[in-house]
Amino acid sequence: MTTPLTTWVPGAAGSHFDVDNLPYGVFSRAGEEPRVGVRIGDLVLDLAPVAAAEMLDVHHVFEERTLNALMAEGRAVRSSVRRWVTGLLTEEPERDLVEPHLVPLADVTLHLPVEVADYVDFYASEHHASNVGRIFRPDAEALLPNWKHLPVGYHGRAGTVVASGTPIVRPSGQRRVSTGSTTGEVTFGPSRRLDIEAELGFVVGVGSELGSPVAHDDFADHVFGLVGLNDWSARDIQAWEYVPLGPFLGKSFATSISHWVTPLEALDAAWVDLPGQDPEPLPYLAPTAARGLDIDVEVVVNGDVISRPPYRSMYWSPAQMLAHLTVNGASLRTGDLFASGTISGPEVDQRGSLLEIGWGDESAFLADGDEVTLRYSAPGTAGGRIALGEVTGRVEPARA
Ligand code: MN
Repeated sequence: MTTPLTTWVPGAAGSHFDVDNLPYGVFSRAGEEPRVGVRIGDLVLDLAPVAAAEMLDVHHVFEERTLNALMAEGRAVRSSVRRWVTGLLTEEPERDLVEPHLVPLADVTLHLPVEVADYVDFYASEHHASNVGRIFRPDAEALLPNWKHLPVGYHGRAGTVVASGTPIVRPSGQRRVSTGSTTGEVTFGPSRRLDIEAELGFVVGVGSELGSPVAHDDFADHVFGLVGLNDWSARDIQAWEYVPLGPFLGKSFATSISHWVTPLEALDAAWVDLPGQDPEPLPYLAPTAARGLDIDVEVVVNGDVISRPPYRSMYWSPAQMLAHLTVNGASLRTGDLFASGTISGPEVDQRGSLLEIGWGDESAFLADGDEVTLRYSAPGTAGGRIALGEVTGRVEPARA
């Protein structure tokens, strides 16, 4: 075991944004173009001028308005850039060069970090899928017959993936709300059942060739890192429209992601075995790929923590989701985003949506003005904990 490195950056050592974390984001200062930075403590390191001064081969990727160019460089560059940044922030001789390019978070605007290509959302928590099945289909089996054979997912709307902090306008649409044995009439109007889904998002850096599946073993060659993700959901619109083709307008109005993208290397100590899969999945979803991440989630509504979903309790793993997403030969592109599905643990206080927390009761859903923040933390490689990017949003009244 190597001795953990110590940073010279004031206030960073021992924080959740120490040198074992180093998430990437896109920031700007007043009057300047957005560019790539890395977070250390409560500061952002402006990478472009430092990389140019040190004549880094890939210095141009830090001048971009998104992380896509950096992510597209691939796993070897991701690792070498991380080693370079770690050196900058831990070696005292680098301090004179680097310190002038550390900017307080309070002085910057943070932007959507990724130009999102395609967006896919899975449904990988058995507890969530069972709860939703019981609520939406009380007279049927909680899980449909395919659920334990493949990671169920749907194609979402990449163009409405927004950065943390973006206001969420309450969507309007068709809904039919049934109470008891009475089937309600079909009406149009603002959603009365606006919900959250606490999820993790996986961002693809390196694409793949059309026609060629990506093996689960190649996960780290294609995935760059993780974001916090809130899949805002209008349950009344969703419940009416989803049969037989799945979610559509009940989810496409907005999906929020964190400003910070945590590179896979920061999560090296967080991998754990999943709870178990029965029946054994088909070979392309190999059981050896059933490795999850020990990430704790907190759901915060108007300042109160209302739930603590554990990501380690998921049924399907990220590598299995990626293998399934491409097994038909569908190609990946830089900027593709795939999400875990709502993270719900086995306990009542581990549920990742208000639908489950209130068990369908209308009063549990979001009111105009409510603010939801999702926070994430995981074991770091230095023995402490790291924070992943949090994602927040406030509900605004419907416009139509
Ligand atoms: Mn979802």
